Amino acid sequence: MKQLAGYDLHTHSNASDGSLEPEALVRAAYAAGVRCLALTDHDTLAGLSPARRAASELDGMRFVDGVELTCLWEGRVIHLLGLGIDPDFAGFGEYMEQLNSLRRERAEAIARKLVKKGFPDLLADAQLIAGQGQIGRPHFAQAMVARRLVASAQQAFDSWLGQGKIGDVRASWPALEDAVSLVKQAGGYAVIAHPTKYNFTFTRLRALVDDLLAAGGDGIEVSYPGVTPNHLRDLLLLAQRKTLLVSAGSDFHSPEQRWTALGCFPPFHASTHLLRPLLPDCAEQWWYDAVAIA
Ligand code: AMP
Ligand code: MN
Ligand code: MN
Ligand code: MN
Repeated sequence: MKQLAGYDLHTHSNASDGSLEPEALVRAAYAAGVRCLALTDHDTLAGLSPARRAASELDGMRFVDGVELTCLWEGRVIHLLGLGIDPDFAGFGEYMEQLNSLRRERAEAIARKLVKKGFPDLLADAQLIAGQGQIGRPHFAQAMVARRLVASAQQAFDSWLGQGKIGDVRASWPALEDAVSLVKQAGGYAVIAHPTKYNFTFTRLRALVDDLLAAGGDGIEVSYPGVTPNHLRDLLLLAQRKTLLVSAGSDFHSPEQRWTALGCFPPFHASTHLLRPLLPDCAEQWWYDAVAIA
């Protein structure tokens, strides 16, 4: 798991729920040995231009514009990665504004729900922690930790904010089809993030993949922290059967989260690796070789 892949196509900065500034994230990734990095903040593109600028100052560093879009499929929240998008695509404007309002409204609702359970009103704290970044449940978790209402952010999720808990407030996120369509119009690749983290059966996962393909999407992540060797194998098989592109990344959020490190996820080989169409001019790079046909 700690093996460095040389590339990382899933990371977060403080433009969403990560702890590092986009520039600092890029430099940390470079220092860790990553030479191809995608920034994929939740529902915002705000970190992309500073990150791209920082990457351009580092010799041999390739940067991929990305985003992790929250969307709904059959009533369930799914994360869709858009990789290699054009951040200047005009259609992002309205879409991101809508997500921004949804997240603000949801944050208010989360605060209200927690107050009903006897918590102080944490909205202002969470907003302060989020700063200019896109607000989400992790900012509430951090607010709870700061006020010593829970022992850790993980405990905040386990008891209050995680799936099915009181703070897991429903929102009318855009449909998967709309998120895929946006990514495709912006010239990117649409990839289902961490497919085994939705607690779906593989039958359900196949249905999700079928709908992704029907909507014009491209692929799935197959390797990320926490993926088991069996799941990695099954996801690679699924990708092979459905002719999907495959991607991988650390889902890095913060240096304090010891179980994720930039550029680190279980190694694998795949001939349909997304890096190939994403960066066709990089065939001579050492990290590109790492994804060659097994
Ligand atoms: P949101 O975008 O507000 O729905 O928050 C989702 C984010 O919260 C994810 O991207 C993770 O960073 C974090 N998260 C979600 N579930 C958990 C969990 N069970 N434990 C820890 N962090 C979580
Ligand atoms: Mn996150
Ligand atoms: Mn995610
Ligand atoms: Mn993520």
